[in-house]
Amino acid sequence: MKIAVVGIGDELLRGFTINTNLAFIGRSLVAEGLEVERSYVVADTAEAIQGGIESALGAGCDLIITTGGLGPTVDDVTKKAVAEMFGLGFKESPGVLRDLRDYWAGRPGEMPEHVRGQAMIFENADYLPNRVGTAPGMVFEVPDGDGARVVMLPGPPPELNPMFIKHLLPKILSWAGEGRRHVRTVVAVGLPESKVEALTGPLLAETAVSAAYCASPGRVNIYLSGDDSTAVAMVEATLREALGWRALPQGVDSLPEALVALLAERRLTCGAAESCTAGLVAAAITDIPGSSNVLKGGVVVYSDELKKRLLGVPDEVLSSHGAVSRECAAAMVEGLLTRLGVDTGMAITGIAGPGGGTPEKPVGLVFISVAVKDSAPVVERFNFSGDRRRIRDSAAATAMTILRRELLGAG
Ligand code: ATP
Repeated sequence: MKIAVVGIGDELLRGFTINTNLAFIGRSLVAEGLEVERSYVVADTAEAIQGGIESALGAGCDLIITTGGLGPTVDDVTKKAVAEMFGLGFKESPGVLRDLRDYWAGRPGEMPEHVRGQAMIFENADYLPNRVGTAPGMVFEVPDGDGARVVMLPGPPPELNPMFIKHLLPKILSWAGEGRRHVRTVVAVGLPESKVEALTGPLLAETAVSAAYCASPGRVNIYLSGDDSTAVAMVEATLREALGWRALPQGVDSLPEALVALLAERRLTCGAAESCTAGLVAAAITDIPGSSNVLKGGVVVYSDELKKRLLGVPDEVLSSHGAVSRECAAAMVEGLLTRLGVDTGMAITGIAGPGGGTPEKPVGLVFISVAVKDSAPVVERFNFSGDRRRIRDSAAATAMTILRRELLGAG
């Protein structure tokens, strides 16, 4: 199956909206052993929309997914343009009309005509329900198109994402049949991408399994794919063994999720004392449902004064070693455990930049201290690279990785 995505919208071309729909569709398909082969971004004009779809068909794509331009707003010319291109008529869909009435129930007044108009779909199309907005998705076969299909999805991600996963993906999987590769994902934490590749790459030699690596601060996703499901599963097991504690458990998608599960299993609480990350660790943990069982809280201690007052960091530590130091990180985590009464703690102090660096303490220098009650705390020094955001994200992820490592006894 050759898949293309046509992103429709002037806002995408002008840079006001980032094309996250393409990223979402691409990622969701890769996880199922399918790949987007081409992508086009076109303006909100009939000519551009038709041109985008024509280009994809001309390139031999047999599934073309358009995103955006389906709403009842003035710039939404997509439906008309596509109908004209393929000579399609419209029908009113009773299913869509029912959904629209449900959507409108409880709202004041009659359902406006332009909303009812959303029930008009192409005569040869099936619709994909929209539980969030009013624009249904549509799926149809291109007339005389050798089985090629066009799928039209609404632009707003809160509408597109659930529609794609619940209603479109099952169809795509059935269309693809045996033609898709088997995929397994391994999430590695605590190692840069180059090391993950160096460690795992040789394990794939002489197998019929390929790997795609995708890095973000603190983690590397390894997508394994191949035609033979047993071979893919065997390579996955080998990689997990080689990575050891650095591989998140199967089915666990993120580091905070793994950490929360581990703390809950051990019936331990945690807290964070954050300077340069200013709450990123606490925010990542509270993103996980059930985090209230483990996270007691955290403190953002940006100034020296609050490091002293809230965490009891001694004056002497700050005057002799400075706030970005091994000694300060150790004192912060100690204060966290004693003053917040948590079982485990993470403390972070560093220089996120772009200013504030010196030859001895450059931008990216971060000290992270982690303590688990009844064991000696650990303090580690890092030199993270990238911009301010990346340095802060890397520091937050690394603190959670170290706590997980200590809990697993893998330090
Ligand atoms: P609406 O009913 O809101 O008009 P629509 O299907 O017509 O929905 P658009 O008008 O094209 O969609 O886009 C609506 C909003 O959806 C955009 O302002 C943008 O915020 C978001 N959006 C559109 N396309 C994308 C995309 N490719 N990636 C991310 N967001 C997008």
